[in-house]
Amino acid sequence: MFNYQAPKQLLKDKIILVTGAGDGIGKAAAIAYAKHGATVILLGRTIKKLEAVYDQIEKKKYPQAAIVPLNLDGAAEHDYMELANTIENEFGHLDGILHNASLLGDREPLANYDPNTFEQVMRVNVSSQFLLNQSLLPLLQKAEEASIIFTSSSVGRTAKANWGAYAISKFATEGMMQLLASELGSTSNIRSNAINPGSTRTSMRANAYPDEDPSTLPTPTDIMPLYLYLMGKDSLSINGQSINAQ
Ligand code: NDP
Repeated sequence: MFNYQAPKQLLKDKIILVTGAGDGIGKAAAIAYAKHGATVILLGRTIKKLEAVYDQIEKKKYPQAAIVPLNLDGAAEHDYMELANTIENEFGHLDGILHNASLLGDREPLANYDPNTFEQVMRVNVSSQFLLNQSLLPLLQKAEEASIIFTSSSVGRTAKANWGAYAISKFATEGMMQLLASELGSTSNIRSNAINPGSTRTSMRANAYPDEDPSTLPTPTDIMPLYLYLMGKDSLSINGQSINAQ
């Protein structure tokens, strides 16, 4: 496991957007960020799940979260501009984005891969990240220092048979992370990095490996040290890196 002990108030007064915040790793990250002092903007497509995370944060008396219902499959440019306007009006700036939401898509050889599923996975896993970054960069630029974290995968570094659009989308994610790091890195306050969570006990993992015993895997909470490290000021000099959480 990545070795880092986050100071209690690491993210005090920070405004952080987490995509796919209703379940799995995104939910754990939203709660971990709130626990360390951040106001978390919970973005996702299932409002009930976002509300449950909101309630959990409230119950613990962490800073009050905000909910942004948005289905990244089908969201259009104006939805992202609206999101940026809402964050600007509410908070004035943004200190971090965790791009976490993803679709697994089909586990099929490319020869048989459904073209509609291919497009959908690329929309949710790649295009939405581009649109979010583009609309939110002006707000990140207003922060003292800001962190963009992408979520990669081992099949986004070395492709493996039958991982289809998901693998290709994770290569693209690594590419977007590197591109932003190169464009923003030395001249701005924004750093861009990626996390490879490794095998983690979530519903996506269970769908990908139905025969696996989930109790053998680390939980999302177990892998939070790297998520905290890359979001907080101890990683200020880190830019353009893709790091394993385990
Ligand atoms: P989950 O499936 O548990 O969670 C994914 C989250 O993304 C859910 O909250 C889901 O919302 C949300 N989401 C999916 N589609 C959309 C959409 N169209 N619009 C908005 N939100 C959406 O997955 P994990 O927690 O396992 O995965 C988190 C990240 O980690 C992903 O990027 C994944 O690729 C990566 N990863 C995970 C690994 C693992 O072993 N778990 C290994 C390597 C990488 P809803 O709950 O409403 O469906």
